[in-house]
This record gives sequence, C-alpha cells and structure tokens, in this order.
Amino acid sequence: MSPSIPSLWLRPNRERSLKRLHPWVFSGAVAKVDGSPVPGQTVVVRANDGTPFGLGAYSPESQIRARMWTFDAERVVDDAFVAAAITSAAGRRAALLAGDTDSARLVFSEADGVPGLVADRYGDTIVCQFTTAGADAWREVMADALFELPGVACVYERSDADVRDREGLLPRVGLLRGAEPNPDLVAHEAGFRFAVDVTGGHKTGFYLDQRDARRAVEAVATDRRVLNVFSYTGAFSVIAAARGAASVTSIDSSGPALEVAARNAALNGVDIGELTEGDAFTVLRGLRDRAKQYDLICLDPPKLANTEGQLEKASRAYKDLNLLAVKLLAPGGMLMTWSCSGAMGMDLFQKVVAGAALDAKRTVRIVDRLHQPSDHPVPLAFPEAEYLKGLVLVAD
Ligand code: SAH
Repeated sequence: MSPSIPSLWLRPNRERSLKRLHPWVFSGAVAKVDGSPVPGQTVVVRANDGTPFGLGAYSPESQIRARMWTFDAERVVDDAFVAAAITSAAGRRAALLAGDTDSARLVFSEADGVPGLVADRYGDTIVCQFTTAGADAWREVMADALFELPGVACVYERSDADVRDREGLLPRVGLLRGAEPNPDLVAHEAGFRFAVDVTGGHKTGFYLDQRDARRAVEAVATDRRVLNVFSYTGAFSVIAAARGAASVTSIDSSGPALEVAARNAALNGVDIGELTEGDAFTVLRGLRDRAKQYDLICLDPPKLANTEGQLEKASRAYKDLNLLAVKLLAPGGMLMTWSCSGAMGMDLFQKVVAGAALDAKRTVRIVDRLHQPSDHPVPLAFPEAEYLKGLVLVAD
C-alpha cells in the first residue's frame, strides 16, 4: 500500500458491513478523509483505530461515499488491476456466450467487482455505462479493456442513466473505441434475432435481464392467446408467435418501441399480431370492460419504485396492474408478472400480487418464480444486486 494514498476513516463501530465484505461506505459512517481526494480517486478505507479494510473509489458527491475495489489493502489499484477485473468478469460469461447466443451482460458493476461499470455485449458491439465517480475516473482504461476482448469491433458509451446525477456526473453518450455502432445490430439468442438500438434504445438497447423469462415464455406459449403488456421491442411477443401462440397482442406506450417490435417480427419471420400503443392501465381497463380473456399474460412494467420512499405508491400501481391482469385471465390462464424495482423484495411483491388476486376474487397459485439470469449475478455479500423478480401464476 503506497503511503501517498489518502485514507478514509470510519466512525467508531461502523465497520460491520465492511467486515462482511459489503462494498459500500455510506457518508454517515465516515469520520474524516485525509486531504481532498478528487472524485474517483482511490482511498484506503480504515476503521477508526486505523485498521485498513481495503481500497475503494472515493465519491465525494454521493451518499455512497466510497465503493470498495478490493478488501486486500496490500493490492494496488492500477490499470492492470481494473483491466483484469473486467477480463475475468467477461470470462465468467464464456459458457453463456457459446453456441447461438452472442449477447450477454459482461460486467455487472459491484456484482463483478467493478463498481459503477455496466457493459453489455451484443455480437461484436459492447455498450457500456459508467454510473459512479470511480468508474468515470477509470473510463479510458475500462474502454481499452473492453475493446481488447476478442472479437469486439465497437465500444459505445450510454452513460445517460439518472443515477449519474447522484454522483455529480453529467450524462455522456458516444463512441469510445472502434467503429460506429451498426444501426442494424442484431442480438442473437437461442435461435432468435432481436434488433438492438444501441444509440436510442432503453438501457443499453435490449433487456438482456429477461433472457431466462424468454425461455419460460417459449416453453408455454403454444396455442395460447397471449397478451404482452409493457412489450417494449416485443421479445416475448416474437417468441410466443414463433412457438405457435393462438394470438398475440402487445401493449406499450412507446411508438418507436412498437416499430422495433414489428421489425423483430420480420427478422424472425413471424406475425406478432396486434400492436397497441397506449397507457397500459387504460388499455387493460378497456380490455377488461370488453370482457377479453387471455391464456398467457406477460406483465413487465418499468421500474415503479426507485427508492424505499416510493414503495407505497409503487405498490398501489403494481396492485392495480396485477388486478387488471388477473381479471383478464381465462380459466387456467397463466400470468408472468415482474417487478424490476430493487427496493421491492420478493416478499413484498408477492403480498401485493396476492392482494390483487384477492380483489379479483380468483384463486391463483404460484407455479414458478423467475429471477435475473446468471450474467446478472448477486454476490452473497451484496444482496442489493438483486432487482428483478417474477412470479409465474396460474388462475383457476
Ligand atoms: N418486457 C420488455 C421490457 C419492458 S420495459 C422486454 O422484455 O423487452 C418497460 C416498457 O414499458 C417500456 O417499453 C416502456 O415504453 C413501457 N411503458 C412505460 N410506461 C408505460 C405505460 N404507462 N403504459 C404502457 N407502456 C409503458
């Protein structure tokens, strides 16, 4: 450990979470910081008695004042350290990226030991987001490491997520390495092809985190009347149609997303039926009023609670949506319902959905649970990485 690295000193008795290898140091736990490290600078995190816990990235503007790079204070956080963390994270996806799947999340921030970096690979293109001061400080090194991965032709930055605000960072979007992104970029996954809008799509362009859910839809869609609510670019719709759904209806408030859905249908040579542009709450009420019935409903709303403070309001919205969906289920029909709000745990989500089934006066059973896939891992020491949870329900 170099003596020139500034130290961040914890207040007395605030080292418990670090002892459990949790990577965050909250501002309230900090007693003092030596000197004035710049945003993203590496600091030695120390207990009040001076015991070093390891090295972290300093974030002066954030409530999360430091994020740990390593719990070994003897390590050196330099270009090679950061590059190696990225290379090993990418290596852990090797099995997933075999065969006919060329798209996966290569780096999932703290969950891969690279706080603040998300990097998604679609074929030869990597789309990345730097969401913390620490990641931002190592941006060039990270871009190089991603560009050096085998077969990569383009590294594109989509650092336009709101969370950058909390770190005092401005949005930044654009090419980092290699060739401009291919406007006709396609993600290949288990025999399907999905258009990826690198520059204009949500997040990094595609919902990689619903990969396992796509397989779940694939397994049950045959002969069902399918309603895909919050369909975005229609991945569930395409798969349902390809597996012989009796009918498919997709609802989304975004016209451009529905246009991509139509393109995805063409890319896969299927007819995905009706595309309804509108507010899901309103459209679902309309379907209920017309006594419509479906055998499979996918309900995948955007994040409705960003913080614990928003949970109550979000719970009401989740309940309304699930109530409408349960009412639209034909006898024996299946509802796949998700919450991607990290602040809402599985227990609360299940309670909210149970309330919806009760109000709908239907007997509903959980037959399966869905989670974020293996390229969105959850370290045992960092349960906050878990955000996506789903219930597979069958109504009498
Ligand atoms: N299930 C999709 C991802 C859904 S993302 C997939 O697997 O790819 C959430 C979607 O909800 C976005 O496409 C967004 O346009 C849409 N959305 C947000 N608010 C909405 C609303 N009130 N009504 C309908 N769609 C909405």
